[in-house]
Amino acid sequence: MTTRRNFLRLVGSTAAGGVISQYGTEIARAFEQVAEGDMEVVWFQGQSCTGCTISTLQAQYPTLEEALNEFRLEVTFHPTIMPEAGEAAIESMSMSPDILIVEGSIPTDIPEAATIGGRTAEDWVTDLAPQSDIIVSVGNCAAFGGWPAAENKKRLYDLGENVTGAKGLQFEKRKKGGVLGADFTGGAGLPVVNLGGCPPNPDYVLLTLATVLNGHVPELDEYNRPLPFYEPLVHDNCMHRGYFDRGEFADKPGGEGCLLKQGCKGPYTHCDDQTRLWNDGTSVCLNVSAPCIGCMEPGFWDRFSPFQQEMEGSPVLGNVSATQAGAVGVAAAAAGIGAHLGRRAMGYGKFESAEKADAETKAAEEDTE
Ligand code: SF4
Ligand code: SF4
Repeated sequence: MTTRRNFLRLVGSTAAGGVISQYGTEIARAFEQVAEGDMEVVWFQGQSCTGCTISTLQAQYPTLEEALNEFRLEVTFHPTIMPEAGEAAIESMSMSPDILIVEGSIPTDIPEAATIGGRTAEDWVTDLAPQSDIIVSVGNCAAFGGWPAAENKKRLYDLGENVTGAKGLQFEKRKKGGVLGADFTGGAGLPVVNLGGCPPNPDYVLLTLATVLNGHVPELDEYNRPLPFYEPLVHDNCMHRGYFDRGEFADKPGGEGCLLKQGCKGPYTHCDDQTRLWNDGTSVCLNVSAPCIGCMEPGFWDRFSPFQQEMEGSPVLGNVSATQAGAVGVAAAAAGIGAHLGRRAMGYGKFESAEKADAETKAAEEDTE
């Protein structure tokens, strides 16, 4: 096993802020550097659907299997893919792993809602994380609470919101804190690295591991997500952007045109999936005219549901609704309205009004939490 001292030397040996964002020789070199012994990995699951595991299993160049077998990553625990079960599985788990990966949210009001080996997920995670060098939240649930933390707006089954008290490791939706607390850092000195998404792109998982193993300290955004993956705005790289700029909107999901009126959350969602694509570079939601539902963002689910409804009065459109914009249609582009909307959208997060609306949303969320 790589010692903590060796690992820290590895992490500190190259320039800060760099992130491996593409496959190639770098990723192979990253894993090959782990030459002094196997890196022990624990992949833990809380309240999860296992979708993040399924997504990671679809990774290419290398596949997850190649990464594990050829690059000396020893997964000592993974409830879904390990052959052992019961006590044997628990006994094989490293209690001070080099890398702790968590999938699924952690229930804190009803801790028994997620248990492994008779212990609650909360107990496991609060024990394991301080003993781990690198901690990675894979998926929106582990990073921000995900759908288990949702409001239950319709009060189905007469239940309140976030019934189990689901939290992410270091965030509750967009608020810092979570199960480990806002100031937590792992043995390598990093906070929990959040890979938002429901699920995240499999590249994000392996490339993040490659980045830290290659000695880089990844530059993170305000939600602790690696910047190169989560800085691009979906709306900026969407194949339907021309329709948006011309004010041409689809009248149904799958229809021709920009999907904003069908509830597309691309103007509010950050990730590089429009250029990276999924399934070995085959496609992405918007390329088959499925509206973006904002799954990469903290606050996904509540912030973006109902998914099929446009976000009226949102910063991207100011006082102009997509319905109004759509009614104007192509003529809007000639009048410059399309371009105006385009500029507003591209400036998401930069315009004062957008920042104000964002701050108000955040404050409202904090009031209700
Ligand atoms: S983030 Fe999505 S895919 Fe991953 S465990 Fe949660 S619900 Fe499943
Ligand atoms: S609103 Fe959605 S469909 Fe329209 S251009 Fe933006 S990301 Fe694409």
